[in-house]
Amino acid sequence: MRIILVGPPGAGKGTQAARLVERYGIPHISTGDMLRAAVKAGTALGKEADAYMKAGDLVPDAVVIGMAVERIGEADAQKGFMLDGFPRTRPQAEALDAALSAAGVQLDAVVLIEVDDSLIVERITGRRTDPETKRIYHLKFDPPPAEVADRLVQRKDDTEEACRARLAKYHGETAPIIPFYEDKGLLKRVDGVGSPDAVTERLVAALGG
Ligand code: AMP
Repeated sequence: MRIILVGPPGAGKGTQAARLVERYGIPHISTGDMLRAAVKAGTALGKEADAYMKAGDLVPDAVVIGMAVERIGEADAQKGFMLDGFPRTRPQAEALDAALSAAGVQLDAVVLIEVDDSLIVERITGRRTDPETKRIYHLKFDPPPAEVADRLVQRKDDTEEACRARLAKYHGETAPIIPFYEDKGLLKRVDGVGSPDAVTERLVAALGG
């Protein structure tokens, strides 16, 4: 199964992708996670990406496309994958299309998780990650247990200012990929408002069970 998860920052893509990859037995490919790992490791690519990410800007297509296409070519992704956070621009969608065609494979679905902007800022600024388990919590909506609370970290780009910049980028640069996939008959819209379990159920239903 080859799936793309699309949605504004804070729509729940990371949380839902972690659940879906377990269900479908496919790798979770998050360009955001890959870029954060590169920043942490101090690689040349990480150094280039760091300032863009902190500001809530998109990392240039030329950097991200090569990284994502290479990852999709790895052995574990041959049976399928769940892309989370890629493609994020029309040129990225076109490059992915070309890479998949060249490999002779097709996408099964592009799932758009829809959440209104008015809910996004509160979702994002309360978000915290457990660096040991990678589990994502929310201080108000999904509070962490006391024993892990002290070790939780906040993403550098989860401030209100960066969040607003990321939302603007989403509407300006990422939203244009929606009609691209709609025209191909691949787009499925899922309401992202509600409990994580309720959203997972809707996603599984949209993907055919
Ligand atoms: P995410 O974890 O998907 O929210 O990504 C975090 C940040 O990484 C984004 O705000 C961008 O700065 C960068 N990023 C991740 N994926 C992409 C992409 N496909 N294109 C450009 N920048 C990206």
